[in-house]
Amino acid sequence: MKLVVPKEITIGENRVGVTPDSVPSLRKMGFNVFVESDAGLASSFTNEDYKKAGAKISSKTNDLYKNAKVVVKIQRPQNLNKINEFKHIKQCSILSLVYEQKFKSEFLNLKKLNVNVFALEKMPRISRAQSMDVLSSQSNLSGYKAVIDAASMFNKAFPLMMTSAGTVAPAKVLVIGAGVAGLQAIATAKRLGSVVSAFDVRSATKEQVESLGAKFVNIESNESGETAGGYAKEMSSSYKKKQAKLLEDTLKKMDIVITTALVPGKKAPILITKKMVEQMKVGSIIIDLASEFGGNCELTKHNAEVLHKSVKIVGPLNLASTVSQDSSRLFSKNVLNFLMNSCESGKFKDFNFNDELVKDTCIINNLK
Ligand code: NAD
Repeated sequence: MKLVVPKEITIGENRVGVTPDSVPSLRKMGFNVFVESDAGLASSFTNEDYKKAGAKISSKTNDLYKNAKVVVKIQRPQNLNKINEFKHIKQCSILSLVYEQKFKSEFLNLKKLNVNVFALEKMPRISRAQSMDVLSSQSNLSGYKAVIDAASMFNKAFPLMMTSAGTVAPAKVLVIGAGVAGLQAIATAKRLGSVVSAFDVRSATKEQVESLGAKFVNIESNESGETAGGYAKEMSSSYKKKQAKLLEDTLKKMDIVITTALVPGKKAPILITKKMVEQMKVGSIIIDLASEFGGNCELTKHNAEVLHKSVKIVGPLNLASTVSQDSSRLFSKNVLNFLMNSCESGKFKDFNFNDELVKDTCIINNLK
């Protein structure tokens, strides 16, 4: 069974869907792995690395896709830069990040083809699926990189330093939203020696935030911010008012703010207004990880840096791609585990449609 790993064509995408360390396990499952020439290079995986692991390298796109049964891509198939991936994809299963609501035209193109499409971002957030959860593996690294980027842009040091020339005060970091990305941002900021505070509408996060050594910014309210499924929900207007007041006071004292607040299926809530930004310290930095979904700051522009009255607001495009060696490895492992989940006696024959992980991720089921 032929499994194909194309080179990503999306601008700024350095990741690759399968890394060499996954190839031996894929081969054991019965796959012949074909990798497009230089597909892994932007993540520092060479053609030689893939060959040593047992994969074959294809330099011609037509050959690569010919008789493919499974295609693993980070980004959804596209028609970009004179490469029309829809033309090559025939009678196969595609595993990718699809975001059908956001990228409707590509989704409609895929729907016309004789293919099955598994949108990996739809993996259920249940314990059994943790090892296949691409959102978690990629968000974790984004949370880390957001803090590293902020530290390198900031004109002060992060840790407390007692020197003979005087004391360097530690940076003050606020993390808004303590999900997967937020918790890793807290841990990273702590490791760099800053004083960290964090806030989330889900009260369950208080313990997690405190266990990482950060201060939880508490809002006095009886309202639960959590759905039965453990996700955040949109809060009432009275809660939002209390939150805004507390944030306004807290933000004035911060040097770095990392925002990650999302409510599934909704536009990101605006938590930092222009007025709040204007009261922040000169030289402070906001890294808005929610920028792809509209942003948590009123002034955020996706894929841009805005300087507003000496406060820098960054809306990063694709942070996971900037640590592509690790993010690709984790993505690849997630994919491997997902394929393994459909194996019988260690061999892959087809996707097991009786399994909820397969059912929930399969958004197009046209394959005949
Ligand atoms: P997310 O990216 O959807 O949201 C990020 C955080 O923003 C969440 O913690 C959310 O509560 C918070 N938030 C939303 N609105 C806010 C507001 N107005 N103010 C402040 N914070 C706000 O979340 P995520 O990182 O994907 O994780 C969400 C939940 O799913 C967590 O409980 C996590 O532990 C759980 N989870 C479970 C699994 C699994 O079991 N497989 C995997 C990953 C995550």
